[in-house]
Amino acid sequence: MTRHLAFINGTLIAPDRLIEDAILVSRDGIITAIKPHGTPPKQAEVIDARGGYIAPGYVDLHIHGGGGADFMDGTADASRTVGRSHLKHGTTPIFPTTTTGSVDQIMQMLAACREVQADQASTIAGVHLYGPYFAPDKVGCHSEAGRRSPTAAETKRYLASGIVSIATCAAELPGADAFYRAASKAGCFITCGHSNASWHEMQRAFQAGMRHVDHFWCAMSSVPGLRQRLGVPMQASMAEFVLMNQEMSTEVIADGCHLSPELLEFAYRMLGPDRLCLVTDCNRALDMPPGDYRFGHVSDGTWFHSDGQVGWAPGGQSLASSVKGMDHMVRTMKRATSASLPEVIRMASLTPARRVGLADRLGSLERGKLANILVLNKKLEVKQVFLG
Ligand SMILES: [Zn+2]
Ligand SMILES: [Zn+2]
Repeated sequence: MTRHLAFINGTLIAPDRLIEDAILVSRDGIITAIKPHGTPPKQAEVIDARGGYIAPGYVDLHIHGGGGADFMDGTADASRTVGRSHLKHGTTPIFPTTTTGSVDQIMQMLAACREVQADQASTIAGVHLYGPYFAPDKVGCHSEAGRRSPTAAETKRYLASGIVSIATCAAELPGADAFYRAASKAGCFITCGHSNASWHEMQRAFQAGMRHVDHFWCAMSSVPGLRQRLGVPMQASMAEFVLMNQEMSTEVIADGCHLSPELLEFAYRMLGPDRLCLVTDCNRALDMPPGDYRFGHVSDGTWFHSDGQVGWAPGGQSLASSVKGMDHMVRTMKRATSASLPEVIRMASLTPARRVGLADRLGSLERGKLANILVLNKKLEVKQVFLG
């Protein structure tokens, strides 16, 4: 179906500036023109932004679930439910993210995502193979029984699915280097997470292709933590490695519960909007009433409690990922930091798209790119979502 749209009466959020009262024209799902002002083409269907914002669709590299479902449930239905629930919050391409679990559970999740990816309105850009290769002392809220070190045979099965496009492994695990190299060869964006890695282990990982660290400050090494593991002299950790290396990027869970405002500001100022991504790391409790839910597979995932703001691990001492969509992360980041609105939106769209190699097709409002477009009100709430 051909569709010719003209978005009017809004401030367009370009990667580096705001364009007031812009007109954006799309045709058959592609952005064909952006004009600072003027009148929309006569034949086009007019979308009135009502004085709000015209923004690019968000890109989320790290997403477990939503709407009551977790990708690890391993069914096409669950996968569609999660996609739909995040679409309402402005996330267009998503990267379904595995937790720890058995080989069968992960293979089933990959198969379900492949099936759903073939849907016409699918938002699945590729799977983030996240669990099971975590460090034993950094498993976090994931099931410990499903954690292990990578082996060539297991990795091969996952990569052969053809849908894995982001790959995480803790750098200090035996077999990590071989995992990174195999995933690099398969074209994946490589990340280190749930790890207690030292500077030297990070250097080795970097040489094997690792360029990103999952949820900065959460389930990662620190200088005092490494002192416990490796003694003195104290050693630099994942944090120093990311901050000091211009080729590294990372992500923050900007839900206001995981990290304080000064940490969000610190991350933004130290890394800048081109090396910092916003992620939701959202679990199945998005848009669900407060209560107890499983993180990971519906039958044997670990229990957590959602209070409607965030997920809590049993005991209520530590967090178990977020229960909010990307629109919430954008609003929190805007409120908590000195980043400009174009910069905040860039961290939720163009920067993650660039890191995973999709920026030539999406991630910003530019001529020739996919018309993944959000209409936001002045409070940055999502009013309408257009997918291609
Ligand atoms: Zn995690
Ligand atoms: Zn996660």
